[in-house]
Amino acid sequence: MKSVVLVTPHSLCTKDAPPGHWCDSASLPAALCVRDELNRRSGIADTHLVESYTPRYLCDLNRPQCRDRPFRKRIREIVDGEKRSGRDAMVLDVHSFPREGADWGAGELVVLDVHPSTGTWYRYNVDLVRMLREGGIDAKLVKGSQMNDITVEFNAPPYEIVATLIEFDESSTDSKRKEICFIISDWVTSL
Ligand SMILES: [Zn+2]
Repeated sequence: MKSVVLVTPHSLCTKDAPPGHWCDSASLPAALCVRDELNRRSGIADTHLVESYTPRYLCDLNRPQCRDRPFRKRIREIVDGEKRSGRDAMVLDVHSFPREGADWGAGELVVLDVHPSTGTWYRYNVDLVRMLREGGIDAKLVKGSQMNDITVEFNAPPYEIVATLIEFDESSTDSKRKEICFIISDWVTSL
């Protein structure tokens, strides 16, 4: 049985935030959608959800300078605990973006690959995007920066586990999001 750790570092939206995109408003519903679909398929995966309780403008939990925050420690605790039980966890770092002004051309789902080598992709990210496209989803594979610290941390030693950053379009309908969650669950099953 796999263990899937769903994390939403930018899901906390507060009214006192300065102007700008300070929270991923669809990231928590999207993570719940993936979790519920995985849980519905009994025997496929154990799921964990770690959501943000820190406003992004105070500390961006997906950045190296916030690695010591409780949110990041909690993810490590879960992954370490699974390892002690002889299981590899995988980390799914869930974000969302407003379609207006999206600089990657506003697909329905964007996978940010943080492989440190230019022109090289993690195989599982390529597979995820292929499966989404085969399912009729406008999915894009984009090079993510090394500032995306959650996936960078778990891609690197001592972990070297599957860790993927996915970005949902905040203007997608619930039914479109469900389709995407279904395919992501197929992908988890295939790993
Ligand atoms: Zn985000």
